[in-house]
Amino acid sequence: MDYLNKIKIPQRIEGLGELAYNLWWSWHPDARELFKKLDRSLWKSTEHNPVELLKGIPYHQLIASSEDSGYLSRYDAGLAAYKKATLSPTTWFEKQYPQQAKNLIAYFSLEFAVHNSLPLYAGGLGVLAGDYCKGISDLGIPLVGVGLMYPQGYFHQKISQDGWQSEIYDQLDFDNVAVTRVLAPDGKLLTVTVPLDSISIYISAWRVNVGRVTLYLLDTNLDENPQAYRGLSARLYGGDREMRLLQELVIGLGGVKILRALGLNPDVWHANEGHTSFMMMERMRELIEKGSTLQDAMDSVRRATVFTTHTPVPAGNDTFSVDLVEKYFHNYWGQIGLDRDKFMSLGTLDSDKSSFNMTVLSLRLAGYCNGVSQLHGQVCRKMWHPLWPDLPEDSVPIDAITNGVHVLTWIAPQFSLLFKTYLGENWIERQDEPSIWENLHKIPDDVIWNTHRWLKLKLIGSILERARQRWSQEKVATIQPLAMGALLDPGALTIGYCRRFTGYKRPTLIFRNMERLKKILNLDLQPVQIIFAGKAHPNDEDGKRLIQQVYHLAKDPQFLGRIAFVEDYNMHLARDLVRGVDVWLNTPRFLMEASGTSGQKASLNGVLNLSVLDGWWCEAYNGVNGWAVKEKEGMNWEEQDDNSANTIYDLLENKIIPLYYDIDAAGTPQGWVKMMKETIRSNTPFFNTRRMTKEYAERFYLKALDVVKSKC
Ligand SMILES: *Cc1c(COP(=O)(O)O)cnc(C)c1O
Repeated sequence: MDYLNKIKIPQRIEGLGELAYNLWWSWHPDARELFKKLDRSLWKSTEHNPVELLKGIPYHQLIASSEDSGYLSRYDAGLAAYKKATLSPTTWFEKQYPQQAKNLIAYFSLEFAVHNSLPLYAGGLGVLAGDYCKGISDLGIPLVGVGLMYPQGYFHQKISQDGWQSEIYDQLDFDNVAVTRVLAPDGKLLTVTVPLDSISIYISAWRVNVGRVTLYLLDTNLDENPQAYRGLSARLYGGDREMRLLQELVIGLGGVKILRALGLNPDVWHANEGHTSFMMMERMRELIEKGSTLQDAMDSVRRATVFTTHTPVPAGNDTFSVDLVEKYFHNYWGQIGLDRDKFMSLGTLDSDKSSFNMTVLSLRLAGYCNGVSQLHGQVCRKMWHPLWPDLPEDSVPIDAITNGVHVLTWIAPQFSLLFKTYLGENWIERQDEPSIWENLHKIPDDVIWNTHRWLKLKLIGSILERARQRWSQEKVATIQPLAMGALLDPGALTIGYCRRFTGYKRPTLIFRNMERLKKILNLDLQPVQIIFAGKAHPNDEDGKRLIQQVYHLAKDPQFLGRIAFVEDYNMHLARDLVRGVDVWLNTPRFLMEASGTSGQKASLNGVLNLSVLDGWWCEAYNGVNGWAVKEKEGMNWEEQDDNSANTIYDLLENKIIPLYYDIDAAGTPQGWVKMMKETIRSNTPFFNTRRMTKEYAERFYLKALDVVKSKC
């Protein structure tokens, strides 16, 4: 492996090199410890990046660890666990479906959030894809991922004194992250080309190891390409619609070609969102080139294609003007035996022939389609009924598989240890069995409470540290550390509102009645504080204004420093937040949250959800595991906002605050802890990637494999 030559590691512990290049370490605390123990301060300053750590650490320190018997026994155990997890042929999938274990599924996504050191994601969609791959790896489902390598990734967020978001793009240093170039057998860079307008563009790929799953991330920054196209994949969502179309062309057409060039011939192809669905077209083109008729090619593609949609509103779907599509596809449609009109009709609706809609294209070319919660499935069937006008709405072939989160990624290690003790050594393999969670009541209340309190202290400590750094190193105005949370109180009931800032998520709903909120935050001896975090999309001016509004209130002394806005929400910060607050607030406008996953992360750490009954929460809420805000249909938006804000205030005043502050002699709020246990017990066995990936495998992949095979 060429990358290992760049790192000098003593032979006794040389396995650290391979481990650093497989992000499997990131969801295994014992493996993380191996790096952390080498040099704690480097671990921290590299933001938990083992590749950078191994490159930066003085060699004598590595020698010292390689001669330390305590370290060595950890190392041997850690490496053995890694080998077993990534190589042993005894996974769930191999045991259950030995006949299919040699098949291959390709999973296409524009974003993958595996670890913060690879910032190839903007938000929920990417986190889902990253969690998905980890869950797939844990089960041994044979899958490769295809995405784009964004050397500048998504932006870092800073907020100015007047509350305006600025976007900072850092260049990724490929030598310092867990990526390697994909080479051809002759040792040269593997490249493929796809036609763009009048020229061909060259594409290469990077490899990222995620346990057993390999991700191939495409890159156009090659000398062979004209300057204008080299930066095509530089940023996630950084450009205009034309840039975006080109990115989708690269992943869709280039992704198929790269897999072929690697000798990989997937049996099933899965598009995570419509952004990647040109891959379906490219496979049609391949079949037609080999002599299929158009109809046969389309049928074959459908039989082997899964499509997951995440958007609940027509406006959220990815569309391009047909003129733009024409510019790049006018040489292409002939190759699949179509003329302009027939080609455009694949992606347009009769009601709007001017926009080419990637969701429409995907629904037409994929045989297995799904939304990401049961409610979202219904919304999709209604929204896309026009594509199947002859069917009754509830027979529209869009299924639903509810999202889940990767438990080991999001759970606090302290809770993980408790579960190991009380639920059983193998709780993680049995996480999707409700019966093991019945043992949760055996954990003493004060143990749960103290664990939670410690996580809250840690969260607030890290928020203070961020504020301290910005103040001391960057000399921001004195008011800014206050707005960033310098006055947070670890004893106060803490609400978290953390996600992308955009209109439909209504981040400012809780400020609807300012006077009432002020009273709630300032209740005598029962203080409440709210932590906000989240980025606005670079082109979303409204989203930025919402951030500004919150930031202004965070600076306002009337709120006594009980509102904080923490900058640069990302996976790293999210991990601390979903474990460290008491209540996780979510206020999407009803039917606009396809699933939502951050509340699931909170729930498995015993953080209680206070949320509009939408997306996943509509399935999860059972009356005693959190609080629900019901939105009524038939109200206009103003009325809905008033109604929901008032429900939230009522719940806080009458239920949430009294319960939180009702403590026993030892300082434990028993009623609260009971609810914490209930949320963990009722939600964790279902809203996890193990259940979710099994569903994708059994309801889609295996079915598709059966059909594909029977046709051969
Ligand atoms: C989980 C997660 C999300 C998704 O959160 P929602 O509340 O479901 O929108 C977005 N960003 C980050 C960094 C996350 O970890």
